[in-house]
Amino acid sequence: MSEETKVTPTTETAPAAPAARAERPARPFGKKRFESRRKVCKVCAEKIDNVDYKNFQFVKSFTMESGKILSRRITGTCAKHQRQITKAIKRDRNLAILPYSLPKK
Ligand SMILES: [Zn+2]
Repeated sequence: MSEETKVTPTTETAPAAPAARAERPARPFGKKRFESRRKVCKVCAEKIDNVDYKNFQFVKSFTMESGKILSRRITGTCAKHQRQITKAIKRDRNLAILPYSLPKK
């Protein structure tokens, strides 16, 4: 009784392994997987040449509530501006304008 219930979940989660993925040619989801929306760099869109650490309201929008820096994948910023943003955030942290971390709620 107890053994069966333990075994079944492990077999279902097995396809996460790379070997199992290679065996399956077609995707189980026949419908469209997701609709991608074009991400635009917020800094480019606002035509800001250099991200200023003094503009902390704007810089803050690239951090999580916990104080973590949001990745490029999530915000859609270009590489050049992401570099400037991280620098600005780190500068603001050092100046105690932005937090290094905040406790989770
Ligand atoms: Zn940009």
